[in-house]
Amino acid sequence: MIEQSLTMIPGPTPVHANILGALARPTVSHILPAFVEEFKAALQGFRALCQTATGQPFIVAGAGTLSMEMAVVNLVSPGEKLLVISHGYFGDRFVDLATSFGIQVDVLRSEWGQAVPPATLAKKLAETSYAAVTVTHVDTSTGTCSPVAAYADVLRGRAEMFILDGVCATAGIDEPFDQWGVDVLLTAAQKAIGAPPGLALCTFSERAMARRQAKASVPAYYADILRWLPIMQDPGKYYSTPCVNEIMALAEALRMLHKEGLPARFARHAKIAQAVRAGLGALGFSLFTAPDCRADTLSVILLPAGIEDLPLRKELAARGIVVAGGLGPIAGKAFRLGHMGNIAAGEVVTVLRALEGALGALGKTVTPGGAVAAASSFLP
Ligand code: PMP
Repeated sequence: MIEQSLTMIPGPTPVHANILGALARPTVSHILPAFVEEFKAALQGFRALCQTATGQPFIVAGAGTLSMEMAVVNLVSPGEKLLVISHGYFGDRFVDLATSFGIQVDVLRSEWGQAVPPATLAKKLAETSYAAVTVTHVDTSTGTCSPVAAYADVLRGRAEMFILDGVCATAGIDEPFDQWGVDVLLTAAQKAIGAPPGLALCTFSERAMARRQAKASVPAYYADILRWLPIMQDPGKYYSTPCVNEIMALAEALRMLHKEGLPARFARHAKIAQAVRAGLGALGFSLFTAPDCRADTLSVILLPAGIEDLPLRKELAARGIVVAGGLGPIAGKAFRLGHMGNIAAGEVVTVLRALEGALGALGKTVTPGGAVAAASSFLP
């Protein structure tokens, strides 16, 4: 039954009962003072999540792709140049997006499962300058976690706007916006933040706001941040009806997140990733992503010889677990397991036990309890 399955895909992630409770509250007027306070709380909570003193947060109905579009169209005009660092399907999405607005795009593309070395970025920027550079913090197709701190060192002091896609990272992996000199951190509600899908979130630096303000217009209406700015400064104002329930749910998710504390939350994600990988190793699985760039938020797992994608996912579904298939060149060769948001030891144990059962059902010899035993030393 739909409500009995544990959704362990790399987003949407399982939504905690407190957040679902906030979502289920009566839908109220978007200018009701109590709602306006919740909207303000969500904006403050998101800004604190970005670890910025001066960044301007935006929360708009949509999803991650809208926040990507808001970042690009507000900072890079048609005819200008954008450099995209791509570690897979979602990095490539910036290429499609920018191209469709008439932006000239250069791409630094890694092999799938690897990361572009910071020196390659430095070399490219020594040859050419750009209006902006995009970095996908964690590419959800390949599990590659970008060396963002090292890219930030290369970009520091340069004129290029630094756009960071945190859709599969924000709230699970540290992203110190001010310290890294990020110009736009963009994300969505449904992954490590742990809220249901339906919101685009992004924070613009002062420098990025000034860049937008210097443009007379941008080729956007709903995605134009200057149309949204008055609402983000005073959420009692109207531009387009906010999704009231979603914002209440996000406000609750952010309260929970700050109650846990950012350092504790990032440490929990790191521990869970270690536990999952120890368990997967005990089951004989290996990972697709190179060891030096594996994300704490998901694992991309190679299918062992003799195990096919759909039968494995069917066996897992029969045990109440939903995982995601591989994308692009690794479709049918790997599956993706999300381990981010509001999950804990219980979910890890449940997934590993289900994987053990599924492999057994498909004829693999596994040591009963071996995966959970291997994971346990990393679990609280
Ligand atoms: N960027 C990354 C890294 C993603 O993982 C995704 C979605 N999986 C997106 C962007 C697009 O987000 P959405 O599906 O919410 O539009």
